[in-house]
Amino acid sequence: MHPATANRHFLRTTEERDCGGNLQPISGDVPLTFNIVAMRLLQMVVVVFTACVCFGAAPEGIPRELARDRASLVSDLRYNLRFSLTAHASTAGGHEELSFQLKSVAPLLLDFREGTASNLVVNNSATPVVAENGHIVLPAEKLRVGQNMVTMDFTAPVAPAGKAITRFEDKDDGSEYLYTLFVPMDASMAFPCFDQPDLKGRFRLTVSAPNTWTVISNTAAEGGVGHAWVIDRTFAETQPISTYLFAFAAGPFRKVHDVPGLPGLYVRQSKLQKAEAEAAEVQEITKQGIDYLSNFFAQPFPFPKYDMVMIPGFAYGGMEHAGATFLREESILFRIAPTHSDRLGRDILLLHELTHQWFGDLTTMRWFDDLWLKEGFAQYMAYHALDALKPTENIWKRFYQAIKPAAYTIDATKGTTPIYQDIPNLKDAKSAYGAIVYSKAPGLLKQLDFVLGDNNFRDGLRLYLKEHTYGNAEWSDLVHAFERVSGQSLTEFASTWIRRRGMPQIDVNWTCDGDRLARLSLAQHDVLGEGGVWPLATQILLSYRDRDPVRVRAQLSQAQAEVEDAAGKPCPEFVFANDQDYAYGRFLLDPQSQKAVMQKMGDVHDLFERTLLWGSLWDAVREARLAPRDYLVLAQRLLPDEKDESLAQSVIGHVTTALHRYVNAEVQQQFVSKFESIATDLMLHSPDQGLRIIWFRALRGLAQTPTGRDQLKGLLSGKISVPGVELRQLDRWSMVTALVALKDPEADAVFAAEKKRDPSGDGQKYAYAAEAARPDGPTKQQYFQDYLHNPGRPEDWVEQSLGAFNYWNQAELNQPFLRPALDALPQVKRERKIFFLLAWLNAFIDGQQSPAAQAQVHEFLKAANLDHDLQLKILEVVDELDRTVRIRQRFS
Ligand SMILES: [Zn+2]
Repeated sequence: MHPATANRHFLRTTEERDCGGNLQPISGDVPLTFNIVAMRLLQMVVVVFTACVCFGAAPEGIPRELARDRASLVSDLRYNLRFSLTAHASTAGGHEELSFQLKSVAPLLLDFREGTASNLVVNNSATPVVAENGHIVLPAEKLRVGQNMVTMDFTAPVAPAGKAITRFEDKDDGSEYLYTLFVPMDASMAFPCFDQPDLKGRFRLTVSAPNTWTVISNTAAEGGVGHAWVIDRTFAETQPISTYLFAFAAGPFRKVHDVPGLPGLYVRQSKLQKAEAEAAEVQEITKQGIDYLSNFFAQPFPFPKYDMVMIPGFAYGGMEHAGATFLREESILFRIAPTHSDRLGRDILLLHELTHQWFGDLTTMRWFDDLWLKEGFAQYMAYHALDALKPTENIWKRFYQAIKPAAYTIDATKGTTPIYQDIPNLKDAKSAYGAIVYSKAPGLLKQLDFVLGDNNFRDGLRLYLKEHTYGNAEWSDLVHAFERVSGQSLTEFASTWIRRRGMPQIDVNWTCDGDRLARLSLAQHDVLGEGGVWPLATQILLSYRDRDPVRVRAQLSQAQAEVEDAAGKPCPEFVFANDQDYAYGRFLLDPQSQKAVMQKMGDVHDLFERTLLWGSLWDAVREARLAPRDYLVLAQRLLPDEKDESLAQSVIGHVTTALHRYVNAEVQQQFVSKFESIATDLMLHSPDQGLRIIWFRALRGLAQTPTGRDQLKGLLSGKISVPGVELRQLDRWSMVTALVALKDPEADAVFAAEKKRDPSGDGQKYAYAAEAARPDGPTKQQYFQDYLHNPGRPEDWVEQSLGAFNYWNQAELNQPFLRPALDALPQVKRERKIFFLLAWLNAFIDGQQSPAAQAQVHEFLKAANLDHDLQLKILEVVDELDRTVRIRQRFS
């Protein structure tokens, strides 16, 4: 699975959250006030269900010991499931036949929460439903050693948000769609099961649904039987898969560009035309990916078919159900005018989900403590595959830009965790998702590939997959596979990088004697001051004014090491100690090199090198070692000539953060109108279309003065246009949001005009978000209540509006909501999908800039009785506020 937009969730700097630009309106048909009665009723239903009979003390969630016990007893699982889906219903009815082998007899817990079960029959014997703490107890006296059969009827909740079966109502044509999303342990919200990844089952599914609906599941439908308006569709039995990988989607989906030999692609009927324009590109890269990965892993595609289903407002960028990946529709059908770089980002998403079919679905982690095994590899292999499929695209530069900063950002905070995360209970597995598994783990794999060499790396993966086909494995299995193929011991490397949290900062020290390098040494220290030392391998760049650079490979396994191979080389102009980004750690430039780079950056022609140097300078800003003002001066001088679209975009992002967070109002005023006019000029006159789009986005994020805002209004009214670019729905709504947030005198008129112009379902969502930016207390109060107390509000509406609510210029206005937002964390953790909690924290804490807000967060941390994982998340996120305060104090 893939975060909706990696940057928005993991990079907490303002610009990378899209400047609050991904935004949305008050919908006419969903009341903003909380429907307390409905919520209470729901709670009562659960209480009635869970309180019926008590039998022993079933634990809450799924503790590790329960999972271990069950995995040792239960095998050969088969689920025969029937779901009856009807439009507009708040529940789905179902029937289940569950068969399994049992090694010895003891009371057995099935997991099932929030639904109701009835007519339970265990081995042909009617059995009362004993439900406790989200489990159904199968009594020992009804079970037997060997084959067992359990049948029952059940109902499961269906809702627009917060449930395992989500209902989406398409406001464009009134259609309804239902889809499941079970990861990490929500299958047990939809049907009774053993909801743990190492109890794989074969699923046979029948879905009864209106005959106008299409149903997609893990396997192909074997046929349908009609009864008037309803059709029963039965799907072929799956291979053994984990519960979190079982899925179905139903509704009037249409198959797009249905060509034999290409993977299936589905979209809701109202988006068919838009999807047809994109389908070939999406299917083609996926097809190429299947061929490449089958060959690379030496394992054919592991499931009988591969479909992709676009789901509007999907909580993640994608979810890799075996044979049926669900993709966030917005990640495939762009709501903004896309650049070339955006299209490459889409390739990465598609290849990430595809890699999971092997890494995650065929071979699955035993428990979610090894989440990185699937996410780290999916992320790393997506880049690896795209580099092979599109070799001219400088993919590893992209990896550095898109992956590494998110990892370094969290790993430098007190909230970071090791790559391997202890998960005593699956109910806490959501907390394991974040930049450590999505960004640090792939960063480590890049380092491991460098250490082992490409062939050993590939052969280790082949061995690992071969030995755990349709099974489960742990990280030590993978490490052993690498050791066996390479003959190298990885014990220390693996345990240090996988079990220890944090990262090293690597400093380089060099002196010249005349025109020769006399010595060069590397030293590392633990960024968190916890005393860690990491074994690492890197490549050092020695750069010269008028000769080719020299590259030296170096190892560092202690706190310090001399790089003997560097001595005697010509004296360089500057040194950078992580050339090609092979190593993982913070690599700042030494003072002499930093000075040289600030002067010579314009002459660095190697794009990857230039990107790394810009990145290192930004790291220095965030470490308060380089004044943000100096960074702004450099960017103002060099950015207009930067021809690489994604590098320009990332530097513009840093400029935006520096302007909105790190400098005082006076410095901000000095620079804003200059950047506005550069952006306007290049948006209109850059010869490259991608750059014109990038500079349009820069203007949208930076415009602040009356002149800048006039440009936005001109773009909205059509008086100005970006040559060759048709701005899309979200481009337009982002400008409206900016004008609302900045309290432009014409904001209300602009907002009303856009609402009239774009009454579509997405338009309503974006208007909802835009209005959240309105800088007045009552609006904020109303939205805040809506976020926490309106169960009818789709989660993606809330998520999309959080940045607008916390617009960068509204810190003071929003400070009263900081504490209530923190107080709500347990509720948010319990009720929302995986990435929402971080989005919530990032929005409310990053919305603040003052020492007073900083103190408030730290006081809350001390006083509140929070789960450990929530404490870590706050520590992770507050780091950016701590830095902001530090930088402002140091340089103001
Ligand atoms: Zn993934």
